[in-house]
Amino acid sequence: QFICCPAEQLILIIISLLLFQTKQIEEVQSTSKATRVSAHTHIKGLGLDSTTGIASPVGSGLVGQEKAREACGLVVDLIRSRKMAGRALLLAGAPGTGKTALALGISQELGPKVPFCPMVGSEVFSSEVKKTEILMEHFRRAIGLRIRESKEVYEGEVTELTVEETEDPLGGYGRSISHVVITLKSTKGSKTLKLDPSIHDGLTKEGVSVGDVMYIEANSGAVKRVGRSDAYATEFDLEAEEYVPLPKGDVHKKKEVVQDVTLHDLDVANARPQGGKDVMSLMAAMGKSKKTEITEKLRTEINRVVNRYIDQGVAELIPGVLFIDEVHMLDIECFTYLNRSLESTLSPIVVFATNRGVCHIRGTDVLSPHGIPVDLLDRMLIIRTLPYNADEMVQILSLRATVENIEVEESALRLLSDIGARTSLRYAVQMLTPARIVAETCGRMAITEEDVKDVDTLFLDGKASGQMLAKSEGYMS
Ligand code: ATP
Repeated sequence: QFICCPAEQLILIIISLLLFQTKQIEEVQSTSKATRVSAHTHIKGLGLDSTTGIASPVGSGLVGQEKAREACGLVVDLIRSRKMAGRALLLAGAPGTGKTALALGISQELGPKVPFCPMVGSEVFSSEVKKTEILMEHFRRAIGLRIRESKEVYEGEVTELTVEETEDPLGGYGRSISHVVITLKSTKGSKTLKLDPSIHDGLTKEGVSVGDVMYIEANSGAVKRVGRSDAYATEFDLEAEEYVPLPKGDVHKKKEVVQDVTLHDLDVANARPQGGKDVMSLMAAMGKSKKTEITEKLRTEINRVVNRYIDQGVAELIPGVLFIDEVHMLDIECFTYLNRSLESTLSPIVVFATNRGVCHIRGTDVLSPHGIPVDLLDRMLIIRTLPYNADEMVQILSLRATVENIEVEESALRLLSDIGARTSLRYAVQMLTPARIVAETCGRMAITEEDVKDVDTLFLDGKASGQMLAKSEGYMS
């Protein structure tokens, strides 16, 4: 079970490195996605009653929008009972009616480690990367993999040692070691392991002889460290509490490490140019963010290894939520691709959002509801979101203020809610931080009505700016 082909061995090592390098995993994730999600950190779920599925006016950080939340709750049930395969969800409503918030609520209901990957339809248009490639990348960002790695240590006396050799690959007269087969014997039995000396440095550096007491550390079947037992504690600088002296020959399960990564994390980590096969150069490569092309071949190879891990019970697939906002910005080529991808076994839950009515499907002369081809529309469950009333806006603004640690007087919240009704909720939420700065400049902690008024005279919201442009051709000149 320890024998793998070199490519698999490499992917295996990188997955193992990911397990111990949580920081690096964070580094490979796109920060722009994190920023987009951070505006919604107060959302922890859909806020539904667990038995009746009825929405409370405020729950899990979500305010109002009760009908849409209950419908989303049914979608969560469909996903859990695996009835959403090949289908998708469409959230239709005006801007700032909580479509992103609801999509995030769905992913939170599915579990705390379920990936949530937001994107905007227009992101697919790039002069350098194919549209379908961008969609594929986002699909893979939204598919999680939970890897459970067991660490085992075998220790015992070497009773048999066979060295398998091959012809010198460089064509010389010498022969090189291809594998070293070791039998470790203990009071509890024996264990035979086949090791690759090009990966397990200890074998060539130190040499092994019959009679040596060896340890072999394996992570989910892949040998990670090999060495003589007397060097074990010092050689790898193990922390004192981690090193448990083993009774000779015991097969000792040290611990289980659980790590969540996405398929995209694995693509990125494996696409980086590798300096060499040794652990140090792989570790060095992980810290660098140099982007290398992720090829179809690489993805196929990763899928193969991942599927093997799943079959072995080492990894579990966690389909996340891919949220595509402004879906009307996608064109016919993207829709064809999406139609096909939704059928795939490696598909996340896709939630689309739009604020458009009937419009052209991009790239065609065809008019269609929301600019989406009818064959794709037929696969969708559509949920409508409605504008908020003044009280709901006050509650949402107050939630955001709490999360952002901003104190706001009641009258200021009311005024912000009026401004939100005139402009948009997003604009009103965005005014919180400038208003806080104004308050602080005046030596106050809490935002007052006056601060909000001040800030409102300084900025224009999108709607107002558009109206001014329409009225006086080019107010900018
Ligand atoms: P849409 O996707 O429909 O444009 P959104 O979910 O992106 O809307 P924003 O316009 O960004 O919402 O709203 C500003 C803020 O209000 C965000 O922090 C968002 O999480 C929050 N918000 C929106 N709707 C709700 C809601 N129903 N309950 C709680 N917070 C909400």
